[in-house]
Amino acid sequence: MNIEQIYKDAGALLEGHFILSSGNHSNRYLQSAKVLENPQTSQKLAIALAKLIRDANITVETICAPALGGVIAGYELARALNVRSIFAERKEGSMQLRRGFEVQKGEKIIVCEDIITTGGSAMEVAAILSELGADVVAFASLANRGFCKRIGSNTKAQSNCKLPKDVPLFSLEDFNFEMYDPTDCPLCKAGSKAIKPGSRN
Ligand code: ZN
Repeated sequence: MNIEQIYKDAGALLEGHFILSSGNHSNRYLQSAKVLENPQTSQKLAIALAKLIRDANITVETICAPALGGVIAGYELARALNVRSIFAERKEGSMQLRRGFEVQKGEKIIVCEDIITTGGSAMEVAAILSELGADVVAFASLANRGFCKRIGSNTKAQSNCKLPKDVPLFSLEDFNFEMYDPTDCPLCKAGSKAIKPGSRN
């Protein structure tokens, strides 16, 4: 399965001149919500991700996703693994389990995102689950921006990856984009203006 092609076909892999969340500029941008607007595609990707997790003999009872971005990916992964699906959400700045969601002591949980960039949100979710006594056995994402090392990839984790080294990350594909300092961006120098796609457009 060609993951990059699936993202391209869905209009989720944009080409142009973008401001990334880090502030750097790039000629590519992953608008990962777009790949999930087709439920059949979401399901197909989640089944592939579930296979990686099953093949690694990871025992899991629950998937927990950071809202909003991770919810669809987490729900589809839970369906593919036939386990429970919950999500955490940000309230007054901090991640929380709300809506009656509970976790048990020792419950084996995978934290799932649509995309892992540096893993900051995923780590916040992992921290509250650990505080509640759950056992975070892995991280999972459909796409990996290449800062963290996914299982099966030869690339090394970079210094800005916030995920722990001793917990595996399962992901379908690395999306390593060229990044430019805004003061030294060839696209800016060529006269084009960077746009910030983000979640607002
Ligand atoms: Zn630029």
